[in-house]
Amino acid sequence: MRDSSWADVIQVKAFGIRKERQGYGFMSRICSVCGKRPIVGNHVSHSHRKTKRIWRPNIQKIRVVEGGRVLRKNVCTRCIRTGKVTKAA
Ligand SMILES: [Zn+2]
Repeated sequence: MRDSSWADVIQVKAFGIRKERQGYGFMSRICSVCGKRPIVGNHVSHSHRKTKRIWRPNIQKIRVVEGGRVLRKNVCTRCIRTGKVTKAA
């Protein structure tokens, strides 16, 4: 998986988000368990004009227990729900 994919380029193009280029802001939208990340597509209006849009995964920054240690990780809600991580108390 490449770190600077076409998805971030379009994200910058479509929304003018400079943060992604500076190297932070994008990794926080990737699930550190399953690697789920934003995907890009089109808004399609009634007249069929298309503009770029982004679907972002529902990622939460949670405290997880890993090997007896507590870490802060960005995990999608699906991984939290299916118990792929153990949340710290
Ligand atoms: Zn996940």
